Amino acid sequence: MTDSIQGALPITARNITKTYGKVHALDDVSLDVKSGEFLTLLGPSGSGKTTLLMVLAGFTRPDQGSLKFGDQEMIRTAPHLRDVGMVFQNYALFPHMTVAGNVGYPLRLRNVPMPEISQRIEKALETVQLGGYGTRKIDQLSGGQKQRVALARSIVFEPRILLMDEPLSALDKKLRDRMQIELRHLHEKLGMTTVYVTHDQREALTMSDRIAVVNHGRIMQLATPQGLYEQPTNRFVADFIGDSTFLSVERHGDQITYNGVPLKTSRPVPDAASLVLMLRPERVRLATKTTKTVNEFQATASELVYQGDSYLMYATMPDGTEISLRGAIRQGTVAALPKIGDHVTLALEPGDTVLIDGRDV
Ligand code: ADP
Ligand code: MG
Repeated sequence: MTDSIQGALPITARNITKTYGKVHALDDVSLDVKSGEFLTLLGPSGSGKTTLLMVLAGFTRPDQGSLKFGDQEMIRTAPHLRDVGMVFQNYALFPHMTVAGNVGYPLRLRNVPMPEISQRIEKALETVQLGGYGTRKIDQLSGGQKQRVALARSIVFEPRILLMDEPLSALDKKLRDRMQIELRHLHEKLGMTTVYVTHDQREALTMSDRIAVVNHGRIMQLATPQGLYEQPTNRFVADFIGDSTFLSVERHGDQITYNGVPLKTSRPVPDAASLVLMLRPERVRLATKTTKTVNEFQATASELVYQGDSYLMYATMPDGTEISLRGAIRQGTVAALPKIGDHVTLALEPGDTVLIDGRDV
């Protein structure tokens, strides 16, 4: 096994549709994954993530659509001929085989000569930091070790595409955090085109070059982690990634107003019939005397929660909407905070004044 996989392949999916009875598991999905990219499918349970991954792997045949790896059409190609490594949520290891037996399985399937098999097994085990574990039984391993074996098995034949379906969801939080960083390093080292599935937005933000947010079998937005967080294009994405509240705003020609007061924004304003202002709790601040060029809002403090590293304040806006803001706690912060029922002035920088299409999607 060479250190870096040669010739990672781009994936081009076009108009993929898959229905189960009345359920649109995939509803006209088109997706481009760049060569060598780490792309994550992120969405709630039942949104179609696994179905899309299974279409890429070849275990599910879509009703319609086309799929290319590089410039080769794949829809009719059997899974084992697609040159795709796959890691499943439940590991899917053979419990009666040793670690080496499991990892070597794809090589035996491909009729690789025996001496080469043992070499490549050991190399793959070293890659996932399980060097010397070959003779262990699967049931002698911890959850994290089992997941590493599954990973070693998926990369041992040097696939040009790696697919992973919620591979860390069975692990406890500490191990999951560490494995996220490790998987990321492994990807940087091996460089194969990777499609990763998770329902955990923080995991997606941590690991991905780009994220496709999936809901009801459709891709709601495809962007970098920062792009999704800072400039969501619809309410679903704004809601699903991070915390947010929304205020209905009005458009008068070029001017956007909230409660009659014009808003300053340095962000693009969508060309939509109804607009909302998205507020992230950590971007809204309590105004001070020195803030001048920012948007200011009058509100009433309605709730205050001490959370150790930060405080969370709820504030009721003039139109009755409750928004939240979060601030860091340092020496003296808590004593200086407003009390419940106090009038407060909130400040928002033009760069944090994100307007999005107000339709519910
Ligand atoms: P996710 O992985 O995002 O949780 P899935 O892709 O597993 O979502 O499922 C998407 C939708 O398709 C769900 O409504 C699910 O119930 C349905 N579905 C998936 N696979 C099947 C199947 N084999 N038979 C019937 N319905 C299915
Ligand atoms: Mg799934």
